[in-house]
Amino acid sequence: MPSEIKRAETFVEKPRTLAALRADITAGTVTATDLAAGYYDRIAAVNPRLNVYLSLSKDRAMEQAARVDALAAKGDPLPPLAGIPVGIKDVLVMRGAPATAGSKILEGYRPPYDATAVARLEAAGAVLLGKLNCDEFAMGSSNENSAYGPVRNPVDTERVPGGSSGGSAAAVAANMAVATLGTDTGGSIRQPASFCGVVGVLPTYGRVSRYGLIAFASSLDRIGPFAGNVRDAATLLGVIAGHDPKDATSSPAPVTDYAAESDKPVERLRIGVPAEYFAEGLDSEVRAAIEEGIDSLKAAGCTVKPVSLPHTKYAIPTYYLVATAEASANLARFDGVRYGYRSPQSDTLSAMYRHSRDEGFGAEVKRRILLGTYALSAGYYDAYYLKAQQVRRLLAEEFLRAFAEVDAIVTPTSPVPAFKLGEKTGDPLSMYLADIYTVTASLAGICGVTVPCGATAAGLPVGMQVLAAHLHEGTAFRVARAVEAAQS
Ligand code: GLN
Repeated sequence: MPSEIKRAETFVEKPRTLAALRADITAGTVTATDLAAGYYDRIAAVNPRLNVYLSLSKDRAMEQAARVDALAAKGDPLPPLAGIPVGIKDVLVMRGAPATAGSKILEGYRPPYDATAVARLEAAGAVLLGKLNCDEFAMGSSNENSAYGPVRNPVDTERVPGGSSGGSAAAVAANMAVATLGTDTGGSIRQPASFCGVVGVLPTYGRVSRYGLIAFASSLDRIGPFAGNVRDAATLLGVIAGHDPKDATSSPAPVTDYAAESDKPVERLRIGVPAEYFAEGLDSEVRAAIEEGIDSLKAAGCTVKPVSLPHTKYAIPTYYLVATAEASANLARFDGVRYGYRSPQSDTLSAMYRHSRDEGFGAEVKRRILLGTYALSAGYYDAYYLKAQQVRRLLAEEFLRAFAEVDAIVTPTSPVPAFKLGEKTGDPLSMYLADIYTVTASLAGICGVTVPCGATAAGLPVGMQVLAAHLHEGTAFRVARAVEAAQS
C-alpha cells in the first residue's frame, strides 16, 4: 500500500510468516503460549472496532499452546503449524464452541464435534483462537448480512471487507490471526481476500473435506485458507486437503507439496487472459493494476495469450439458480426443533416452524430460500434448475478446453475494489452482479488463488485471481508467487 495514504484509522498489520514464527518457536525465543496470549491482546484491542471475531476459544487455544511448548521444550520435532494462531469462519463447527453461521437461528447451538479441516489444523499444531464473523449462512459479498453486525475492512473502516468470509479476510489483514479458514461457494474466499489485501485459496471441489461445514450449496461449497502470503496459504492447504471418509465427495487424489510447488519458477508457463473478464463494468484502476500484474508475469518468463470463455455471460443467473436451489433444501433443517433458536410465541407445531424461521432468518436468507424453492418447484424445474445445470456443464467444458492450451488463467478477482458500507445493501442485484469473476470457477469446480496485485490511488487493495485446472493447485500457487514477488 502506498505509504503516502493517511487514514484516520487503519488496522492493517501484516502477520509474520509461518517460517519466521516456526523458527522462533523451535529456537524457544517465543513460546506458543506467549504468541497466543499476544494474539488475544491484539484481538481485545482491535475487535471492538472491526467486529471480526464472534467468539473466542481461549481455553482450548491455551491448552494446545501448552502442548506445543511442551514438545518444543523436549526438543521433539514440531508439526508443520506448531503454535500458529488461526481463526475459523463461523460456518465450520468446533466441538463445544458456538456455531452461528452468522445467523440468529443458530443462536445457542454448540456442536458436539470438529469439522475435519479444523481437526486437521489442530492435529498439525495450530492454535484455534476463535470463530470469525461472516454473512448469514455464507450468503453475501460484503459481510453486511451477518446477524451479528458487519465486519469493517481493516484497510479502511468505512468500507466492507467483502464476503461472505469477511471476518476471515479481515483477521489476517489486521493480524488478528496468522491465518484463517473460510469458505467459498461463489467467491466468498477470493473476493474478501482481494478487498482486504491478503491471499485466499479456492481449492478444487472435493480437495478439502466438507465434513462439519454448515452447508449453503453442497455442490459448490469449498473450504480454503487465508494467509498473509502465498507460501503460507499453500502450506495450510496441504494440511487441510485430502480424502476424508466422512465426506463422500472428497477426492482420493494424493495431496502434493503445495508449498514446494509454489517455489518453482514460472518460466515458460502459459498464462491465459480471457477477454470476457476485462469487459464493461471493470473499474479502470482495477484493470490497470491487473494489467501490470500480467506484465510482471511476462517479465518473469511466462507466455501470455488470449483465451475465450464465452459462457461467462450466463454465469450469474446460473450460479444464483443452483446456489439458491441447493440452499432452499439445505436450510430446511432449521425448523426450531433441532438447532438453536425457537420462537417462544407458538402454540402449534406449524406456527412454531413458521415463527422460528421468520424470526431466525435474515432478509437475504429468506430471499434465497424463496428463489430456490421457486426454481425447484414442479413446472419450473426444467426451465430453471435443469437449464442452469446444463449451462454449468458448458462452463466447465469451456474451462477444460482453455486449460488444454494454458497452464493458468488470470483475471481480476472482483470488478471493483472494496465498496462503502451500506453502498449496495438496498440493491441485491448489483451485489450479485459483482460476483461475475468468481462464480465461474465455482460452477466449474476448478481451483484458484487470489493474490494482492497493486492498489487503487486511494490505497484500496486489488486482487488477481489465478485459476488452474482441477487438482492443479500447485500451478495456481506458483503463478501467484510470481505476482506476489513482483509486488515487493
Ligand atoms: N457472494 C456470493 C453469494 O452471495 C458467494 C457467497 C459464497 O461464496 N459463500 O452467494
